[in-house]
Amino acid sequence: MNSRSKQLTILITLSLAVIFSSFVTADVEAVRVWRAPDHTRLVFDLSAATEYDLFSLADPERIVIDIENASSLGDVTDLDFADSPVLSLRAAPLDDNGIRVVLDLSAKVNPSAFTLGANGEYRDRLVVDLYDLETRPLVTARTTPAVQLEDKRDLVVAIVAGHGGEDPGALSYDRKIMEKDVTLAIARAIRDRLNSTPGYKPMMIRDGDYTVKLQDRPNIGRESRVDIYLSIHADSASGRSAQGVTIYALSGETADRENARRIAQKENRADLLGGIEGDTNIADVDDDLALTLLDLSMAWSIEQSVILGSKILASLDSVAKLRRDKVQAGNFWELRSPDIPSLLIETGYLSNPDEAQKLATRSYQEQLAAAIVDGVMNYFHDAPPVGTLVAWQKENGIKPAAPTSYAVKRGDSLSEIAQRFGTSLAELKASNQLTSNTIHVGQVLALPGGPVSAAAAHTIRRGETLSEIAQRYQVSLSSLRTANKLSGDRIMVGQVLQIPSL
Ligand SMILES: [Zn+2]
Repeated sequence: MNSRSKQLTILITLSLAVIFSSFVTADVEAVRVWRAPDHTRLVFDLSAATEYDLFSLADPERIVIDIENASSLGDVTDLDFADSPVLSLRAAPLDDNGIRVVLDLSAKVNPSAFTLGANGEYRDRLVVDLYDLETRPLVTARTTPAVQLEDKRDLVVAIVAGHGGEDPGALSYDRKIMEKDVTLAIARAIRDRLNSTPGYKPMMIRDGDYTVKLQDRPNIGRESRVDIYLSIHADSASGRSAQGVTIYALSGETADRENARRIAQKENRADLLGGIEGDTNIADVDDDLALTLLDLSMAWSIEQSVILGSKILASLDSVAKLRRDKVQAGNFWELRSPDIPSLLIETGYLSNPDEAQKLATRSYQEQLAAAIVDGVMNYFHDAPPVGTLVAWQKENGIKPAAPTSYAVKRGDSLSEIAQRFGTSLAELKASNQLTSNTIHVGQVLALPGGPVSAAAAHTIRRGETLSEIAQRYQVSLSSLRTANKLSGDRIMVGQVLQIPSL
């Protein structure tokens, strides 16, 4: 090869490289963020594998992430950086074909990043963890003694608002109310309550009017250690009479079929069995063992789903009509997570005019959310996972903590917040030393009183005694009598008791 053709070859190779690199772009399709007790995790979902460079800058503190070959950044307007040191995320194109993402920080962090390859249902991902340098107190709770809480993780509750975007879900009898709006409102109300409950961390899988692809959901769950998964829906039926709540867990039969299919199709086992600890490399075991392990994991999660669902039904019973008072076995794609207890909650029938109207009102949505959160808290308080704040609370005889504070969001009014948390405007103002009704976004309000929710009233069922009810709500028998002006312990089936706040 003479030097001329050598030059030409180099030229061709270079231009091919340019063409190639501009052809294979690794666009950021989505950015997701989670706040853990000691770090903030950002996941960049990429359309292809790529290289990145990460560095810190001081004064002011920033983290810079250069993502090569990327030309666009997904929608980041909905990212919730609450409680994290991240103030904002911005991005700008780099000269040599890439994107520079800048995270503005309120405090110095210890960053660490790694990439994950596309794997089965999973896309290529860039994971950035920003570790806090100082462990901050997680809660400043009235009801929780001052203790070191940094080792006690929050329970993560994934909340899926059914449908969204081009998929409206069920429509009301008059087509005016769409399931996707009702589910999002209830999901957000659940999120808000969990956000202000020490020991819990909600994770919204949809927080806007868009669709989250079903196949992306288990992925979201696994990466952020989700403890339970709640999918919120509303039903419809032909005719207008059907009404009430139905809760579904995955049926064992469906699970068996699904597991056999997954093993047969060699779906990624490490992902499927992410919850199983130990030295066994799941990818290396034979099909029989893989299926056995998967069955065990699935059997546990179905059992737990049913227990969780029963707790939620028990607490929903006082605010909603139950169409089925036992957890139903369902066959839904989104419940097929092998190691996360998962429920699909049909909150009522939009085909029923009365129920549709109720489902569209803020107060009923709040009541449903409160009852669902109560059920979740009861479930975890009974058998809290080791290492969680809730486990620690239980060991130390602390009752499930009620929401203690609330960060004001855009569009909130003080009276609406008072209503949502079952307190009066005057009480809310008094406990925050407010002289007017003016509040600002981000302001953290102390919430007076105890858990306010479904537990605020109890309808007597056959066989119940007053002392059992006092025990169940952890109030004294005398305060229960006083609150209901009872002279003795005589109660009647169907009678509604007011439960005094804790
Ligand atoms: Zn639905």
